[in-house]
Amino acid sequence: MIEDDHERDLVIADGVIADAYPIPGVEPDAAGWVLPGLADVHNHLSLASPAGDHEDPDVRARASASVELALGVLAIREPGSPDDASTRLGDEDGWPRVITAGRFLAPPGGYFPGLAREVTAAGLPSAAEQEARRSGGWAKIIGDHLGPGGRFTAHWPADVLAAAAERVHAIGGRVAIHVTCPEAVDAAVAAGVDSIEHGWADLAFDVDLLITGRWQDAVELPTLGGELLEGLQFPHSPAYEVWLLGERRRLAAATEALLHEAALSAMSTGSLADAVRWANRLVCLNPRADGHQELLVRAYAISGDRAAARRQLESLLAGDLPAARTPAWHNEALATAQRSGMRSLARDLLQPA
Ligand SMILES: [Zn+2]
Repeated sequence: MIEDDHERDLVIADGVIADAYPIPGVEPDAAGWVLPGLADVHNHLSLASPAGDHEDPDVRARASASVELALGVLAIREPGSPDDASTRLGDEDGWPRVITAGRFLAPPGGYFPGLAREVTAAGLPSAAEQEARRSGGWAKIIGDHLGPGGRFTAHWPADVLAAAAERVHAIGGRVAIHVTCPEAVDAAVAAGVDSIEHGWADLAFDVDLLITGRWQDAVELPTLGGELLEGLQFPHSPAYEVWLLGERRRLAAATEALLHEAALSAMSTGSLADAVRWANRLVCLNPRADGHQELLVRAYAISGDRAAARRQLESLLAGDLPAARTPAWHNEALATAQRSGMRSLARDLLQPA
């Protein structure tokens, strides 16, 4: 607890504050709030660990758990791991509580190289039961992966998935499944699994909406302008990296085209605040792309905000012009603006006050 910039310890017994170590001479201030430990619901402790890939799994898992602990995380859910390191953390005091799912289960070649315990369809139900027993409750199945041709393909027949879920449920365990493509999500739900992990089907839906839908529907997507699988890298799987790069570019291009259309349409129908908002997002997403800054200048100008239009125009032209505002600067600015088809707007905006 922090009080007047001093760190203090609170002792909590059975959910009740039983004691506080006061600052000398200061009455404990009962007003305030206590933040309980945070829960991280999806982590793989020995992957991307701050200890580095060359360290042993135990060192990697502990390094990751230390970071979580320092951030206030007291419970970690680990839907699958390439090893058993986090099962050993559970026996020791001083670490976040870890609920693991044992090792990832995938068909041969059906996941990132070296990460999964590989099993055939015939062996999946018993392997799932084994992992659930070893982990103390959960098994994690990899339900699909990037196949040839850059498409995700489902790994397991429906009856095999259902049998695996049944075996795990019979011992009181639960099944988490990693699935990406909509078909595999449907199959997993039909099989009665307990949790869908990743489930980028949502995201695939967003991409489809962006590319084929109406801009009126897509422009308000909360994920618009976000990067696909932001922050994730797959250095051990070049095919995956190439797929992800391609998808990110496709998504970015679709997003920009959509915002451009939305801003133009808003300008033509007089929704000028929307025009400014969307043109601004366009410039934030990709300031160097042809036409985005010009669109924002026009959106400001048409909405009557001359000061903002002028500021935006000057920043657009600045790279091509000398810093000093001489009469020559003015002529050059108009010439530069002409190249973007904005000479008359520039003449109007840049005229001396
Ligand atoms: Zn994961």
